[in-house]
Amino acid sequence: MRAGTSRDEFADAVTQALFSLRTSEGSLAILNVDIDRFSTLNDTHGFDAGDEVLFAVADRLSVIVSPAGRISRVGPDEFALLCKLDAPNGTVTELVDRINRLFNRPIETARASIRITISVGAAVVNRDQSAGIDPMTLIRQAESAMQEARRSGRSQFVNYEQSIMEQAVSRYRTEQELRAALQNDKLDVHYQPIINLHSGAIVGLEALARWNHPSWGTVSPGVFIPVAEESGLIDQLGDVVLRNATAQAQRWSTTPLGQSVMTVNLSNRQLLDPHLISRIRDALDEYEIEPGLLCLEITESVVMSDVALSMAVLGGLKDLGVCLAIDDFGTGYSSLSYLRRLPVDILKIDRSFVQSIYNRDDRIITKAIIDLAHTLGMTTVAEGVENRLQVEVLHALECDMAQGFLLHHPVAADEIDMSSIDFSATPMQGPRVTAASVAPVPPPSAGASNGYAPIRT
Ligand code: C2E
Ligand code: MG
Ligand code: MG
Repeated sequence: MRAGTSRDEFADAVTQALFSLRTSEGSLAILNVDIDRFSTLNDTHGFDAGDEVLFAVADRLSVIVSPAGRISRVGPDEFALLCKLDAPNGTVTELVDRINRLFNRPIETARASIRITISVGAAVVNRDQSAGIDPMTLIRQAESAMQEARRSGRSQFVNYEQSIMEQAVSRYRTEQELRAALQNDKLDVHYQPIINLHSGAIVGLEALARWNHPSWGTVSPGVFIPVAEESGLIDQLGDVVLRNATAQAQRWSTTPLGQSVMTVNLSNRQLLDPHLISRIRDALDEYEIEPGLLCLEITESVVMSDVALSMAVLGGLKDLGVCLAIDDFGTGYSSLSYLRRLPVDILKIDRSFVQSIYNRDDRIITKAIIDLAHTLGMTTVAEGVENRLQVEVLHALECDMAQGFLLHHPVAADEIDMSSIDFSATPMQGPRVTAASVAPVPPPSAGASNGYAPIRT
């Protein structure tokens, strides 16, 4: 086995190995091994320990690679392995099992004993295929399989399949088109009102990115937001949405929406942006928006994926005076002790709970979330309200606010209907649910003038 450091050397080795495969039995596997959350490891244990881990990982991996194989470091925390497999295609899973077993025991560094997990992507080629594939394609296949493994969470293994490459190509096209759309200012922002369940008034507006492609038509944020995150375009996209939203808040300041809170989504990657806080401060200053009238939403899974980082960034944002919300709450795995320490004002209850609120168990969970939020001094917003029965149940469960197609669709700024919703004038359908069976909730603490977010004491 030879150890190298560069991608070029690795590509040369793959070229050679593919050539040799034409006249030999078995198959060839390229494996990309990425250390999960290496940056967190560096932050927690320091760069020296990080370096020690990298050496140890290279050392352990080299055991797997035969003398004719190769191991190369191809990224800060990523290694590429070239391995010969004896049975065609069959043994890559066994190989990955062996690799994973290498990390069953912790790595002993000078200061700490560190456990790591890895994500592995593999591409396998047999003798019949060896003439029809070029080395760079094979290397890219292993890389994209590894990216797919990382996307699926920690400790994952993905073996390359054609569909992954097709997805990668389509993601690449989406990225190119999104880049052009951002450059040419072709992204729009729509706003979805958030309604106070007691008064029926609009108390907030969630800014949602919209992309209408000239030939593809409307592209869903579910498609382009992940592409923006992976490609790094999310910083630019986030800035476009933030600036549009704050500019719009300024235009609305003299209308009945003047006291509503403008809500903007932040993605995982934006939390890592060292300029995030200054970007937000600049937007608030430029459009003369009171910080308390801007709310930033971060999904529960993002918050919990790196609590230390989230705590630091949320603390910095809170110092600006903005309101903070946890989005899609209930879908992740929140640690209650962390939740208590996060400077968050609002819990947005995920749509899935609202959809199944007719189910007694889900109603009990929803009530527990609402009570938990209130006990922690937070306000609750139910997401995805689509019918009147859901409004009635949420009201009975003492949920504070709601958002959903029943109340108002996300629309362009000039299409917002500013009038309050008169719940009493729209008799509910279905069985009545009363608040009698639910525990009393302490009165909310003092809050923003429209009651959107309590000020935590
Ligand atoms: P989210 O932040 O949870 O936004 C709410 C989503 O639910 C929106 O989807 C909205 O159109 C949809 N929705 C609202 N009411 C209902 C309803 O009654 N029923 C159903 N089925 N859906 C409803 P959208 O606009 O497709 O956005 C999806 C997600 O994309 C957002 O979820 C958010 O995570 C992300 N996103 C959208 N715009 C941005 C942005 O500017 N920046 C970032 N980082 N993420 C964004
Ligand atoms: Mg949101
Ligand atoms: Mg949400």
